[in-house]
Amino acid sequence: MAWFRRDLRLIDNPAWTTATHCGETAALVVLQPGLLAAAGPWRRQAYLKALAGLDETLSNDGAGLWVEVGDPAEVLARVVAQLGACEVTTNADVTRWSVARDHKVNQVLAVPVTAHWGTMVHPPRSVLTAAGTLSRVFTPFYKAWAQLPLPEAKAPGTAQVITPPATSTLRHALSSLSLEMPEPWSEYHALDQLDSWQQRVDDYGNNRDLPAVAGTSELSTALRFGLLSPRYLAEAVGNDTSGRASFVRQLAWRDWYAHLTAEHPDIDKVSLRAEYDRIKWRSGSDADADFILWREGRTGYPIVDAAMRQLAACGWMHNRLRMVVASFLVKDLLVDWRRGERWFRWMLTDGEIAQNAGNWQWVAGTGPDSAPYFRVFNPITQSRRFDPEGGYLRRWLPELASLNNSDIHAPWQAKPLDLAAAGVTLGSTYPLPIVDHAEARQRAIAIYKQALNSC
Ligand SMILES: Cc1cc2nc3c(=O)[nH]c(=O)nc-3n(C[C@H](O)[C@H](O)[C@H](O)COP(=O)(O)OP(=O)(O)OC[C@H]3O[C@@H](n4cnc5c(N)ncnc54)[C@H](O)[C@@H]3O)c2cc1C
Repeated sequence: MAWFRRDLRLIDNPAWTTATHCGETAALVVLQPGLLAAAGPWRRQAYLKALAGLDETLSNDGAGLWVEVGDPAEVLARVVAQLGACEVTTNADVTRWSVARDHKVNQVLAVPVTAHWGTMVHPPRSVLTAAGTLSRVFTPFYKAWAQLPLPEAKAPGTAQVITPPATSTLRHALSSLSLEMPEPWSEYHALDQLDSWQQRVDDYGNNRDLPAVAGTSELSTALRFGLLSPRYLAEAVGNDTSGRASFVRQLAWRDWYAHLTAEHPDIDKVSLRAEYDRIKWRSGSDADADFILWREGRTGYPIVDAAMRQLAACGWMHNRLRMVVASFLVKDLLVDWRRGERWFRWMLTDGEIAQNAGNWQWVAGTGPDSAPYFRVFNPITQSRRFDPEGGYLRRWLPELASLNNSDIHAPWQAKPLDLAAAGVTLGSTYPLPIVDHAEARQRAIAIYKQALNSC
């Protein structure tokens, strides 16, 4: 029997391949109300749609997804006994919750649980330095990663898939939780998305930093829920052009953060460079008020506000902008990176501990391979460089749409007549900046320096 978690596909899924190389199998999902409640509305919806997609794929073959609600250890013990299953196959994950859950299930079940690694290109502890350790710097990790042959593709077997009883269908489980059956989003939709990406990936190097154009794959949510195998993706894209090679390199970042999380399961709690946990972050009502303005996209810095409004409206944000807004929170506002990490994880459809905390630590300078702490993103320069015509800003900040291509990046620097002509009244139709970037930068550098000098 296969137990699906964040690997919601049948193609190139090692757990499903193993489960289907026998006479009969079932495809089980355990819905945990606590986990559903811990996901923000966008991610919860994406997950439920992906479940409906997997259910549809299985139903097209005459079976369906077997869904139970409850604690995985209890549910698995019950379903294994009910079906007389002799093995449970699954794809492992690296977070402390998944490790603890799997440990508990292993202790309770009388049959073996076989764990595979279908959620990464290369599994943890397989990409090592000459000293046999995980590199704490990305480039050597990447060199070793790129030299490893891709694991073999996993084709499903021919087992008969058991149709769930009426009380164990997805529809029944969702209705018991007062949830509607969503539109299905299946691995075939993700493969269509990949087909479309194959037409554009050669330009990745030129376009990947421009939020106004569709210059990245937007496959992160499909990867998050395993609708697409990262191994399959790396193989399908290949490295024939520089665009393709740099795209596949991003999958190595994804693996690296997962491998780091396997070694540091508290990556979302503790700075991986311990000395940075001495930073005196701002706290109290002023910091709380700034945090709320950041979350709501009301900082007065158009690139930050546009990106945060996109996050609220869609549950997704472009990578360049994730870096800009994270830097703004941590360095310009001196708010602890952990608060931003939690908010992102709640809001993003692709939100997950390894990638999110790993990247937040990178931006905050607390990660093992971060840029030096005195490198602070300038939100105005970033905006001018990566959205020169303001197309992205105009889409998310219609109140600034009539400003010219120069003023839109920093409206407070515009001439009063130009503001008036564009219908912008600072402090009324659009906020004044909540901090002066140059001063905030100096403050951040001083506070970081103080933390490092207090060793
Ligand atoms: C502060 C911050 C928080 C982030 N939180 C998450 C998160 O919770 N979940 C998540 O999947 N990604 C996260 N990222 C990484 C990255 O921003 C997204 O993966 C990317 O924007 C997704 O868009 P895409 O699929 O179009 O990426 P593409 O540019 O098309 O890249 C292809 C794939 O490579 C992987 N990838 C790309 N960039 C990174 C990166 N920097 N780190 C790790 N993997 C990467 C993703 O799986 C992505 O889908 C975060 C980045 C930052 C700076």
